[in-house]
Parts: sequence; structure tokens; C-alpha cells
Amino acid sequence: MKKAGNLNKGGDIPICCNSCGKSLKVENGILKEDAFEATKEWGYFSKRDMEIHHFNLCEECYDKMIGSFIIPVEVRKKLEAL
Ligand SMILES: [Zn+2]
Repeated sequence: MKKAGNLNKGGDIPICCNSCGKSLKVENGILKEDAFEATKEWGYFSKRDMEIHHFNLCEECYDKMIGSFIIPVEVRKKLEAL
């Protein structure tokens, strides 16, 4: 389970997939549907220095995104569920 982010503490404010706008299930601030969450703090060597970007993608949109990669994502299997 993942925390849904600081803005949603205690609330049931839906988190949306940034790509398709579908809302992801949140109960008590906990994301109940697995989704791809990305946070990137851009640094000095980028044009976005000092910016923090964050977005969520539902599993479908994640599949579409990685489907457009020339080099596939590295996939490792977990030996045991945590
Ligand atoms: Zn989506």
C-alpha cells in the first residue's frame, strides 16, 4: 500500500491518472489501486532546475507509455511479496 500524497491526508479526494483522467481508488488517503507514481526533482543540469514534477499513471496508461519505448523497461521478479 502506498500513501497517496500529502494533499490527501485523511480524505477521499480521488487521485487521477494524469494521462487518461481516470480516478484511482483512494480510501483514507491510501491508494487502493496500484498505479505508477513518478516524482522527479530536476536539478542544475536541466532546463527545469528547482522544479519538482509529479504524476500518476493508471496501469493501462503505464502500459501504453512503456509500449512506446524503444528499449523495454527492465523487469525483475520479486522473490517474495513484502
Ligand atoms: Zn490512465
